[in-house]
Amino acid sequence: MTNYDLIIRNGHIVTSESVAKGDIAIKDGKIAEVSINEGIGAKGANEINAEGLHVFPGLIDSHVHFNEPGRTEWEGVETGSKSLAAGGVTNYFDMPLNSTPPTINKENLELKRKLSEEKSVVNPNYWGGLVPENIDNLKELYDNGVIGFKAFMSPSGIEDFHHADDETLYKGMKEIASIGSLLAVHAESTVICEQLAMKKLQEGKTSARDFVESRPIISEIEAVRRIISYAEATGCKLHIVHASSRKVVQVVEEAKRRGVDVTVETCGHYLSLTVKDLEEKGGLAKCAPPLRDEDELEDLWVAVANGEIDVISSDHSPAPASMKTITDNYFEGWGGISGAQSTFNIMLTEGYAKRNLPLEKIVVLMATNPAKIFGLSNKGDIAVGYDADFAIVNLNESFRLEKEDLFYRHQHSPYVGMTFKGKVKTTIVNGEIVYENGYFTKNI
Ligand SMILES: [Zn+2]
Repeated sequence: MTNYDLIIRNGHIVTSESVAKGDIAIKDGKIAEVSINEGIGAKGANEINAEGLHVFPGLIDSHVHFNEPGRTEWEGVETGSKSLAAGGVTNYFDMPLNSTPPTINKENLELKRKLSEEKSVVNPNYWGGLVPENIDNLKELYDNGVIGFKAFMSPSGIEDFHHADDETLYKGMKEIASIGSLLAVHAESTVICEQLAMKKLQEGKTSARDFVESRPIISEIEAVRRIISYAEATGCKLHIVHASSRKVVQVVEEAKRRGVDVTVETCGHYLSLTVKDLEEKGGLAKCAPPLRDEDELEDLWVAVANGEIDVISSDHSPAPASMKTITDNYFEGWGGISGAQSTFNIMLTEGYAKRNLPLEKIVVLMATNPAKIFGLSNKGDIAVGYDADFAIVNLNESFRLEKEDLFYRHQHSPYVGMTFKGKVKTTIVNGEIVYENGYFTKNI
């Protein structure tokens, strides 16, 4: 009889295709056996009784900014990865910017990798940047393991990460296509946003609504259409990050129907917060593209339910509270939301509990699809041979998120005060329990 390292017994096992009661056995960090209804006869060195709980594959957050090295006063790998673990996430993809130096060449990637491997309690992966200065570095970044490249079509807000002009996008996409990788883009039109912002400021209009109107949905649509045309011309695989509206998602849908290799992400905040929250919570809820109105939020849930969206991420983009304070000018203050710890809670509460989104769909959006799109083999689902990454959840437990619950470097988030249904009890990474009932069991 096989001896296993760990057995999770009697849980409701949630995969991309089904929910069924059973046992999971783990050996050497991998799933060695999955038994539905029958039970596993062998013993484990360690056993978890998951009776009444749901066992999800560890979630993948494909879009976070942990800012290490160089800007750890905003966030860091240790605090960022602990927040993820507390939210059921076992893998993350760190964006190339907000860390200094940005991840735009091999040396900078190695520096980030060394720090991340030392400090992370979950599995790290890395995005490389595409900026006007580094087309010659894309191949070395890919050869050294980046999961894809990220470019900004409008200013990033970070001085050492320049946005990609059209020539850079076109040349960069040709190169990325030739090396077999993909490009993710922040798609907003510089021309539209800058002109509208200038007009608002000249008129002294600086409210939350003015800020939102200066970055309209049409600005996203224009940029997405343009970048899709480059994808068609170059054959480069494309991923649109943080679409704020179903109208943007539908542009991607049309392109998919034409055979363009393009996928689209939205984030927890566009599915749970609106312009009203920006007005009430101020800078904590400021991001770009900005939050939209209630009807857009509901329409985005329709897109989620219809399978028009491929990936849900956090776009966790933290900053110290002092940079998030807005008194009366919403054009000032850092745009970026602290949300990594709460994305799964949002999907369980706003999706599963309130809108009947099946649990399997949450797995597809937050685990299976990101693993497939970004080429992580053996991740994103529960099956024999897959990596033993899990989030064990009590779907019946409700809790009000308090500031003190947050593991971020800066304990603020627009979700503080919200009540969530579904609490992560245990997070397991590569067969090892890293988080249990509010505490971390892994020493870094
Ligand atoms: Zn981002």
